[in-house]
Amino acid sequence: MLNNKTAIITGSTSGIGYGIAAVLAKAGCNIMLNGFIDDASLAKIKRDLEIFGNKVSYSSADMKDPLQIKGMIDQAEKELGSVDILVNNAGIQQVSPIEDFPDNAWDNILAINLSSSFHAIKHALPLMRKEHWGRIINIASAHGLVASAQKSAYVAAKHGLIGLTKVVALETAEENITCNAICPGWVLTPLVQKQIDDKAAAQKISKAEAEHNLLAEKQPSLQFALPTQIGEMVLFLCSDAAAQIKGASLTIDGGWTAQ
Ligand code: NAD
Repeated sequence: MLNNKTAIITGSTSGIGYGIAAVLAKAGCNIMLNGFIDDASLAKIKRDLEIFGNKVSYSSADMKDPLQIKGMIDQAEKELGSVDILVNNAGIQQVSPIEDFPDNAWDNILAINLSSSFHAIKHALPLMRKEHWGRIINIASAHGLVASAQKSAYVAAKHGLIGLTKVVALETAEENITCNAICPGWVLTPLVQKQIDDKAAAQKISKAEAEHNLLAEKQPSLQFALPTQIGEMVLFLCSDAAAQIKGASLTIDGGWTAQ
């Protein structure tokens, strides 16, 4: 379906981003991976994604650095020919009451989870306009729609990302370019595993119990969403069927925000 299209997925060396890259590679996209990873693991995931006969490149750009973000977009144009699909997925988390929240954690979360999307969209949009086609998908969160205590920076960044999504959708409304947000609930990735491990240690309970409590508190389905389920939603948003979905925030959250 997406033969010869090129997709950048930020933060795609792990978790949800890798799940999205796998779905898009299978659909025929050339892929620009990004994120932190050692050489051996990178070689393995490149091999896994190249079996579909597409090109796979990698950028080590740090999403905290606007210059490196521009470098990633330039690299994609040079190595893969264009940027047709941009998935802003890179994200980090830190949990703490606001009065103890470290200043540098606030700055890093805002930079990686919000500002990086601004910089990537700013530089990718002219390439999409040249091709008269583009898809921008921002991986927000249920925490872009509702809040939880102790996540001031994350919730602020994800609410901001949904605002940014709407503005970009309006600025491209008359073009064959769409910008939407996906709002996952709990997905079992390294980012969430750390929160489970921290809860288990703090409350002196088993990891299985901490996992159950985490789901029971927020996600009525009591099941994690899968990275590939987020990837399938990205694929749908890239299809012609989704051409009129603009500025939407689509939940995949097991009922979290229906409550
Ligand atoms: P993860 O920790 O598994 O993956 C994060 C990815 O981002 C990795 O590839 C990592 O290398 C990369 N990354 C981190 N800092 C970076 C930086 N400075 N520059 C470039 N890359 C960087 O996390 P995940 O759970 O897959 O989360 C992916 C996205 O989905 C995040 O934006 C997260 O907020 C969002 N999300 C996750 C969940 C969940 O339950 N896991 C729920 C809702 C939203």
